[in-house]
Amino acid sequence: MSNRTFTMIKPDATRKGHTGAILQMINEAGFRIAAMKMTTLSKEKAGAFYAVHSERPFYGELVEFMSSGPITAAILEKENAVDDFRKLIGSTNPADAADGTIRKLFAASIGENAVHGSDSSENAILEGDFFFSKLEQF
Ligand code: GDP
Repeated sequence: MSNRTFTMIKPDATRKGHTGAILQMINEAGFRIAAMKMTTLSKEKAGAFYAVHSERPFYGELVEFMSSGPITAAILEKENAVDDFRKLIGSTNPADAADGTIRKLFAASIGENAVHGSDSSENAILEGDFFFSKLEQF
């Protein structure tokens, strides 16, 4: 069981200036940042990252949104990282997210929901490797 997860601070949260506040919540929740970069995703890259959703009706919207501006990608380390980070970010739809979660505080809608968090340790490794070479993972 890996102790790492992968996150992105999405373009909506970047645009609204929430990057610093979200990183502070991540640090205060006990995650160590093992890799981090601010970048933009081309439509092609966003489409590849979310390929698992390619048959879903919202795929086009998701690709448009994720390539609409800068994101911050990071690998985070902590015991039980995947599950604890999913708890910290809250439900996909901010309307259902628990009080105090990142999505409750910063997300506007189910699509523009401020942050990504891996759903398994296996995907955390694949997603981290999508953005960072092994030399960039500390
Ligand atoms: P997550 O694991 O909580 O991020 O949720 P999913 O894996 O189910 O979906 C991936 C991402 O697709 C979500 O974080 C949203 O940005 C987006 N998404 C999910 N459902 C919808 C939807 O109904 N409409 C739109 N526009 N985007 C959605």
